Amino acid sequence: MLDVLVVGAGPSGSRTAWNFSKEGYSVVLLDRAEVIGEPCQCAGLVTPRTFEYLGYERPILQEMDGARLWGPKDSFLDFQASETKALVIDRPDLDRSIAEKASDAGAELLHGHTYLGHEKIDGGIKASVKNKNKKFSIEAKLLVGADGPLSRVAKNAGISGKREILTAFGADVKGYKGRDTHVDLFVGSELAPRFFGWGIPTGPDEGRIGIATTLPHKPRHFFRDYFLKGAPSKLLGGAKIINLISGLIPFGTANPSYTDNVILTGDAAGMAKPTSGGGIYSGLISADAAFEVASKALDSNNLSATNLSEYQSLISTRIGGELTKGSYLRKAFLSLNDDQLAEIISILGEPKVKETIERTGDLDYASLAAFSVLKTQPKLIKFAPHLLKPFI
Ligand SMILES: Cc1cc2nc3c(=O)[nH]c(=O)nc-3n(C[C@H](O)[C@H](O)[C@H](O)COP(=O)(O)OP(=O)(O)OC[C@H]3O[C@@H](n4cnc5c(N)ncnc54)[C@H](O)[C@@H]3O)c2cc1C
Repeated sequence: MLDVLVVGAGPSGSRTAWNFSKEGYSVVLLDRAEVIGEPCQCAGLVTPRTFEYLGYERPILQEMDGARLWGPKDSFLDFQASETKALVIDRPDLDRSIAEKASDAGAELLHGHTYLGHEKIDGGIKASVKNKNKKFSIEAKLLVGADGPLSRVAKNAGISGKREILTAFGADVKGYKGRDTHVDLFVGSELAPRFFGWGIPTGPDEGRIGIATTLPHKPRHFFRDYFLKGAPSKLLGGAKIINLISGLIPFGTANPSYTDNVILTGDAAGMAKPTSGGGIYSGLISADAAFEVASKALDSNNLSATNLSEYQSLISTRIGGELTKGSYLRKAFLSLNDDQLAEIISILGEPKVKETIERTGDLDYASLAAFSVLKTQPKLIKFAPHLLKPFI
């Protein structure tokens, strides 16, 4: 029987597989995709911290040190930080590089293999898997569900909780008219309801645009109108779509994220940040925590839920606080109407507040900037007193 079967070769699954294989455990890492990293379901924006945490770097397409915020009623702000805040990367390249690390360390990488379900057997699990030629089973002591927002592993293991799921849709475009090192963000009920839209320059004349939201009744028309007539059209005069990107963003940490012989990492465990939707960095953190707890459990030959339960407290200590604060900020954001959003944007433009955002803004830890901004301008608390008071 194998030590570890990892389902999903995204950043979280491959990092988990890499961790285990480095330490000599027998690992199979499988993904239904024929080519790891494809299709791309990401805007490819990470903090420099993500590469530090990962332990190695990949090519950077563009460094970001500012943001333009487009809001309702023609409200607008242009932030300029004094350092690089985010990196634009080739996301499929990142996924492939981590999967390669796992495979170089000894994990068997099976692409084009779909996990169908599993059953509990003595000493582990038996998973049913299919590729284009056949259906077969794999037995393992530990099953890692790193299979993304709609995790089938979580469902099969009976640990998929209720959560908010946003639909995201985007495109790589040629002819983009953004500002070189600035991300464009769109908020407001007409510009990008219930979350935000983005535009990211990826090189001279090129960019990535997108929006995440909860879908209206006619999603296809919604997205078409959004790109052609909506907010980003300002940046897209004559731009051509090169390829489309779509995917789901789940909010809400699964609790528990483990059961007998099963552990979830990344989006499967609800690691995406409710403020930005980003989940690469937090997914890596969950992968490392899963390894730390489950390797001890493997060594003691006891992969019971009780023995894996330390995982929940570890993710809670390392990233859960930020995810919880992020969910308060999201609730506060959802409670605002367009007039309030426009008023907030005008307050954020006050020199002291703006400088605070430029200094403390951090994609991974948005709550730190929120805390500093509310301290600088406490009158902002009036917009959502119950939700924002915990920040001061
Ligand atoms: C449009 C969009 C833009 C985003 N932009 C950013 C961003 O700029 N920065 C950022 O940090 N995050 C971003 N995110 C979020 C980020 O993509 C996710 O949080 C991240 O991919 C989570 O990594 P993961 O390894 O947990 O899951 P995933 O990357 O989703 O990997 C899951 C893998 O499991 C495989 N799989 C699923 N089911 C099965 C099955 N039954 N059998 C076998 N394999 C299976 C899939 O093929 C996939 O490869 C974005 C998300 C979307 C949708």
